[in-house]
Amino acid sequence: MNAATPPAPLVDGFDRRITYLRLSVTDRCDLRCTYCMPEAMQFLPRKEVLSLEELHQMALGFIERGITKIRLTGGEPLVRRDVVELVQALGRKLGDGLEELTITTNGTQLAQHAAALADAGVKRVNVSLDTLDRALFEQLSRRDRLQQVLAGIAAAKAVGLDIKINAVALKGLNETELPTLIEWAHGEGHDVTLIEVMPLGEIEGDRVDHYLPLMAVREALEQRWTLTESTHATGGPARYVDVAETGGRLGFITPLTNNFCAGCNRIRVTTTGQLYPCLGGGEMVDLRGALRSEEPEAQLAAALDEAMRIKPERHHFAIAQRGADPAQPRHMSVTGG
Ligand code: SAM
Ligand code: SF4
Repeated sequence: MNAATPPAPLVDGFDRRITYLRLSVTDRCDLRCTYCMPEAMQFLPRKEVLSLEELHQMALGFIERGITKIRLTGGEPLVRRDVVELVQALGRKLGDGLEELTITTNGTQLAQHAAALADAGVKRVNVSLDTLDRALFEQLSRRDRLQQVLAGIAAAKAVGLDIKINAVALKGLNETELPTLIEWAHGEGHDVTLIEVMPLGEIEGDRVDHYLPLMAVREALEQRWTLTESTHATGGPARYVDVAETGGRLGFITPLTNNFCAGCNRIRVTTTGQLYPCLGGGEMVDLRGALRSEEPEAQLAAALDEAMRIKPERHHFAIAQRGADPAQPRHMSVTGG
């Protein structure tokens, strides 16, 4: 590459500038959330997983092409042994191309890692927590780990990390408890984002049974609280309201009831180096082959160009019919939530 010519930014066929990478560092997890994966989830063979060096090299290639925000995810990113090293390596790019480095975690291991994440330059973490009820937590995640998660959130708060709580809204499960969760989180100074369950990968039950449109949740919350539209934006797909009574912010991610694809600025890479330009689409570019080729830089650049060519205009999720196949066979834990 000629030093005088900066690498081209990533712009897709619909003129969307791609600046946000969600990078899955593992598909493994210490929980088994029922809406995410089956108990007997088949994880990817370890030998297919990118090494720390490969993940780092790839991320640098993305930053070079104008990715300014990287979120590490999974699976559970904090179960990967060398993840903190990756955070430290990427943290060194903050202020030098990278503007923000964040992580989405289930929080079970956050107590051990919060200080190292903060030291490496992470400012915000998303912690997924669907309920404060221990029995329901165990039912939803198939593991009795609520106390560890709460300890993780407390540790993250203690080291000064901004915390956003992500909760999947589930009919007949955490539906009636959502106000308690929101009130608690806002009381602790954390934003909350609610998510509609998406049809990704086979699970044991049928997601139709617990699919809860967030429009209905919002209407129920409006009976209780005063919600006013907020201009707050994080670069993600959530739309926010301010809750007058709790003094906190509440986001809604509504892939099913309200399509947000027009403003999409994201791409996702799996832990085996498959780039999926759309969470809900089957389009894919293999970056591992590029990374392991004779000319990794040139091959990676070409693969990113190809990803921009094939990024679809929108996803076609629907949770309409009982027994229907998932929109995508890939679990959210593989593509990176
Ligand atoms: N293990 C980490 C966690 O739970 O935060 C990171 C990966 S997880 C796949 C990322 C987010 O995806 C979590 O907030 C989880 O609740 C959400 N999620 C998983 N499966 C989902 C599905 N089928 N529909 C909607 N959200 C889902
Ligand atoms: Fe694990 Fe996150 Fe999936 Fe739950 S949602 S099983 S914590 S990857």
